[in-house]
Amino acid sequence: MTSQMAQRLDGKALAQQTQGELKQRIETLKAQVGRSPGLAVIMVGDDPASEVYVRNKKRACEKVGIISFGKHFPANITQAELEATIHELNEDPEIDGILVQLPLPKHLDAPQVIYQITPDKDVDGLHPNNLGRLAREEPGIRSCTPAGVMRLLETYNISVTSKKALVIGRSSLVGKPLGLMLLEANATVTIAHIYTPPEELKELAQQADILCVAVGKPNLITADMVKPGAVVIDIGINRIEGEDGKVRLTGDVDYPEVEKIASYITPVPGGVGPMTVAILLENTVASFEQRCF
Ligand code: NAD
Repeated sequence: MTSQMAQRLDGKALAQQTQGELKQRIETLKAQVGRSPGLAVIMVGDDPASEVYVRNKKRACEKVGIISFGKHFPANITQAELEATIHELNEDPEIDGILVQLPLPKHLDAPQVIYQITPDKDVDGLHPNNLGRLAREEPGIRSCTPAGVMRLLETYNISVTSKKALVIGRSSLVGKPLGLMLLEANATVTIAHIYTPPEELKELAQQADILCVAVGKPNLITADMVKPGAVVIDIGINRIEGEDGKVRLTGDVDYPEVEKIASYITPVPGGVGPMTVAILLENTVASFEQRCF
């Protein structure tokens, strides 16, 4: 029975390996340049999920030798104050990357905030310049979560060329850039979203060789929607309170059932999440290198 189960794409292990390699690279670079790479992490308000993400990112920075400069602002910060902070960080020679933890409180214009980051410090790859470069298949900083998905596929030698890929979710943070990256890797890509009728979503999913789900709805993808042998990438992160009152994380895919028919599957947690952080660190080091040499 076990041999029929999908192979788990172990993002946690791959992220640890990537971070080990980065640590060595940073030690060498630091000896040459005389300083460590610096990442500014901006957080606004007290969203508990964002606090966890920010803490994880700071810890990961520490582990590899990136200095993280935390900037935590109250929820009532104004657009002008936030933009002024970003302008200062753009000019700061110790800062190689600027990250704004999303979502921002509703009164702030998040796209406009991202727009203020100088594109070569936009280590989240969300500035229109970097997203535009991706759309044009030009080199540039790639957004972390979709790049993490692509790295997992490459590492496990999962061929994308000529495969039917369905991406569910069309956000600028995940779904859209992931669709573009799969296209760049020669897949035939379809993007579904909230206005895709459920019956059509099911049909599209059943045809997909590579099924990527970035929605934020537990159990959106059930086993009857998955083509036998498909590669299933679960990007969703949902916080569910169990009967014991403890909060646990789950993705968008019914993992225990889908695992029985897929060829590869990412767990939540331990799949795409850790890869997002690993790529963020890589992007910061790449930006550091580009600015120093
Ligand atoms: P978002 O809310 O911006 O986008 C959600 C997308 O899902 C939208 O494009 C919407 O059209 C689509 N959608 C909603 N309901 C749908 C339905 N019933 N059928 C089909 N499509 C539907 O969210 P996001 O920022 O793109 O994040 C998506 C999920 O990925 C969230 O759970 C988020 O927590 C998670 N996420 C994970 C990581 C990671 O590192 N693993 C990083 C970013 C986001």
